[in-house]
Amino acid sequence: MTQSRFTVAKFGGTSVANFEAMQHSAKIVINNPDTKLVVISACSGVTNLLVELANGITDSSRKNEILSTLRDIHYSIIEHTSNKTALAAEINTLIDDIATLAEQASLSSTAKITDQLVSCGELLSTHIFTQVIADMGHRCQRFDIRPIMRTDNQYGKAVPDVAVLKALALTHLFPLCQEAIVVTQGFIGSDDEGNTTTLGRGGSDYSAALIAEAVNANTLEIWTDVPGIYTTDPRIATRATPIPEISFSEASEMANFGAKILHPSTLIPAIRQHIPVFVGSSKAPQDGGTWVKEEVDSSPLFRALTLRNNQTMVTLQSLNMYHAYGFLAEVFSILAKYRVSVDLITTSEVSVSLTLDTTDTSGKAPNLPAAAHEELSTLCKVTVEQGLSLVAVIGNKMGQTKGSSRKIFNTLEDYNLRMICYGASQHNLCFLVKQDDAHQVIKDLHRDLLEPEY
Ligand code: ASP
Ligand code: MG
Repeated sequence: MTQSRFTVAKFGGTSVANFEAMQHSAKIVINNPDTKLVVISACSGVTNLLVELANGITDSSRKNEILSTLRDIHYSIIEHTSNKTALAAEINTLIDDIATLAEQASLSSTAKITDQLVSCGELLSTHIFTQVIADMGHRCQRFDIRPIMRTDNQYGKAVPDVAVLKALALTHLFPLCQEAIVVTQGFIGSDDEGNTTTLGRGGSDYSAALIAEAVNANTLEIWTDVPGIYTTDPRIATRATPIPEISFSEASEMANFGAKILHPSTLIPAIRQHIPVFVGSSKAPQDGGTWVKEEVDSSPLFRALTLRNNQTMVTLQSLNMYHAYGFLAEVFSILAKYRVSVDLITTSEVSVSLTLDTTDTSGKAPNLPAAAHEELSTLCKVTVEQGLSLVAVIGNKMGQTKGSSRKIFNTLEDYNLRMICYGASQHNLCFLVKQDDAHQVIKDLHRDLLEPEY
């Protein structure tokens, strides 16, 4: 397909949090004539409130408080727009839906109702943002993504059907983008029966990438509240700086290892379709941002540091492992049986250490299910440790560059390292430290590896 340039721009919750934020974002859209499609999140804080309702609140005063907060957030924006009456009607309809669903959730909270409820955040924000752009004198149209973002029915973490999305986007969405700026929802979709689904918290980056892939976009912009991807969290290492350009592989490692700026799945469609991704701040677009691309000009040995707290490490020790075969297979079949997902793993002759994947969004350390613990104990000695953090050094060719590990380990001399993973990827070296040490470890490593003046 030949086409003119096509940018998909995604704005996160803080970029559509209030009228002022929406205006900044709308200006970014209209200042770039290539931006034909806009994907947005719910206004900041809204999804959390909807999740609270979806969990089932029996206290009716809290329920009413949330409903009125939701009304206020959206009404305070439309106050500044034209077409207030029509918008107010859309908002009222959705808030009524929310109230009905919240009632159902307080009787019996299900994942299906939860998805219907939380999807209202994006349904609301898109109504309003469409009007904000239109008020700036541009043709703008809202598009309900659900009929084309078709997913399976795993509510709360639905998996989109990429091929169906692509086919439906070409007939239903692409033509609209030639006539007007189209504003649509991130995060939400629908299953084969037409029930609303969601792609998981933070999923609108992923939606935007899937949609960019489906319409054959040349660029995907992710607008957020920081001017790009930083060398590490600047709240921890104050001298952290934004990275102007980073490769897909490095950025994927960063996302996987806990850098919060991109949802870990976001880059997959962009990589598949070779779409460069720009990450910038909607409040300060003039500050630039980070380009994530296939090819970059510089591939420094050390690029960034990431941190993930609340790790659970399980150590399995057995003398039977000595020169035996099949031990790991047995361990993993038990873990599979109890659906325990493993993140990192290191082995020695008689022991295996592994960390458990943090799959839920609670932020708590994952637990080894008691039944799995018991069954593993019939095979080996099981030790579970928590209060650990995972630190990853992201870079290039670390395994092939002499002296790179010495640099890292010199800095870490005074810390207790619980587990080290190195070698499976050329782009990272990671290890566990005590959670209490983690910030200082990041500060020290940042100083020694990423601050050239030191
Ligand atoms: N609004 C959803 C959330 O807060 C999706 C997103 O913002 O990416 O998780
Ligand atoms: Mg987000």
